[in-house]
Amino acid sequence: MTTKVILVRDGFESREELQQAAEIIRSGGLVVFPTETVYGLGGDATNEHSAEKIYAAKGRPSDNPLIIHIATPEGAEPYAETSEAYYRLAKAFMPGPLTVILPRKQTIPLRTTGGLDTVAVRCPSHPVARELIKAAGVPIAAPSANLSGKPSPTCARHVIEDLSGRVDMILDGGDSEIGLESTIVSLNGNSATLLRPGAITADALRCVCDDVTVAPAVLEQLAENERPLSPGMKYKHYAPSVPFVLLRGDSRKVLSFLQKEQQSKNCAILCYHEEMEALENKNVIDIGKSENLDEQARRLFTALRDADKPGVDVIYGHLPTTDGIGLALYNRMLRAAAHTIVEV
Ligand code: AMP
Ligand code: MG
Repeated sequence: MTTKVILVRDGFESREELQQAAEIIRSGGLVVFPTETVYGLGGDATNEHSAEKIYAAKGRPSDNPLIIHIATPEGAEPYAETSEAYYRLAKAFMPGPLTVILPRKQTIPLRTTGGLDTVAVRCPSHPVARELIKAAGVPIAAPSANLSGKPSPTCARHVIEDLSGRVDMILDGGDSEIGLESTIVSLNGNSATLLRPGAITADALRCVCDDVTVAPAVLEQLAENERPLSPGMKYKHYAPSVPFVLLRGDSRKVLSFLQKEQQSKNCAILCYHEEMEALENKNVIDIGKSENLDEQARRLFTALRDADKPGVDVIYGHLPTTDGIGLALYNRMLRAAAHTIVEV
């Protein structure tokens, strides 16, 4: 299949391009589109053949459910059982990087939800995503637009690397604003369980929900046979092809450890901006200022892709704090490192 790449840096340039993308979705094809979190691999959420195509294009296990993207919070009505708590969250955080798990209506096939009776609903804020969903006239099922196991794509280059020839169209909207996938919550009355941390933080959710619990799989490794609340949590994720090791300890000690490692090993380092000068300029990737968690979130997935190159035997990174969006960074880095933390 030939993949058409269209530039949408300032939105769709013409009505025809928008209609062409929408028509691909409606007729069962796949369109990769930018969102404020990461790029999504979109297909018609109401069509089970589209869901099958999405799983095949990504090489994703078909029990790992897809998030459905809608243009407005009310757009969930035909597809999910909404609730007061859902609308309270929607009022506070939609459109935006929040996904809510709701009971599924029959209009969404089981293929889309990986066999579950619930459906994950998200209303993205990116103008291109919103225009596309509206023009398609159907909810768009979209996982991250990477090959399964690779870091989520935060620019069109990543998508082209992974999915060229596997999708009908890629909409290139430039760099993702947030860089980490959406926050996912499930609801029980007005209480929420945080299944995946993201830019909508646990504290922000606490302003709206009566009670917010963080699912154990966010911070800890699941036991062999444990069933996670969110199926995606059980899969190895974002794993580079060489060991990725997270370092914990006093910043001066960590820096001198890294300097020594550079002398004896072929390592790549995801370092803080302030450390760049003290390290040898070899496979060193600036992940942002140590205090700037938003910047680190935005750069993490590109840094992991760039660090993982031939000749590198090990990748080092700093274990981030769990404050604010730090919890999302911590969760993604921990999974990429398969929970390998070294005390320095
Ligand atoms: P991705 O689209 O690649 O960001 O992955 C979507 C994530 O949403 C996966 O980790 C899924 O496990 C999770 N998810 C989607 N639908 C549901 C659902 N109905 N219940 C729980 N988790 C879900
Ligand atoms: Mg993903």
